[in-house]
Amino acid sequence: GVRHEAAGKIVLDLEKLYDVAGEALEYVARYARAIQQQRGDYNGRVLSIRADDLRSLAIVYDESTSSLVERLNEHGVLVTDPRSLFAN
Ligand code: C2E
Ligand code: C2E
Ligand code: C2E
Repeated sequence: GVRHEAAGKIVLDLEKLYDVAGEALEYVARYARAIQQQRGDYNGRVLSIRADDLRSLAIVYDESTSSLVERLNEHGVLVTDPRSLFAN
């Protein structure tokens, strides 16, 4: 099938999101927990999320999607290369 560029894929570092990000990213953390439940994906260190869901979250925060991505980046919760986390 069609595989989109990894650069566009949003992958969250759950440890950082849950432990460090705190109130500034409260809804993202709550959403990620809900996604984990829906998928039954409890043991992962990272979580890939839908572009559609990111757009919805940006609406909740009343900001653009790119500005939300920027904030996720500033808080260090975006994983650019998930495979690098398992390299060592
Ligand atoms: P699943 O991963 O076990 O997800 C079960 C259901 O949980 C999904 O049913 C959907 O209603 C909800 N869900 C899970 N993750 C998300 C999410 O990130 N955002 C939202 N909005 N809902 C989510 P659905 O959509 O009928 O999908 C059925 C199955 O199809 C999924 O089971 C999964 O195995 C696969 N699937 C659907 N979309 C994707 C995708 O973009 N990537 C991958 N890898 N699998 C997908
Ligand atoms: P990748 O997308 O670069 O992901 C690398 C690793 O990050 C995955 O290794 C997995 O350990 C972790 N990871 C990424 N997203 C999630 C997530 O939402 N939940 C959890 N629990 N872990 C996540 P893994 O599983 O051995 O997969 C290796 C590669 O296989 C992935 O590289 C991807 O290219 C492909 N792959 C695995 N599952 C899927 C899938 O559902 N859909 C697609 N399209 N590719 C998949
Ligand atoms: P996307 O919707 O932006 O989803 C990005 C990534 O989030 C997916 O990468 C997958 O790792 C994760 N993801 C999203 N929804 C689910 C889900 O329901 N369950 C699980 N376990 N993981 C999910 P992936 O798999 O490489 O897919 C790349 C793109 O391909 C997706 O981007 C979506 O546009 C499309 N796609 C893949 N599978 C499906 C599907 O079953 N239904 C639809 N409508 N689109 C799909």
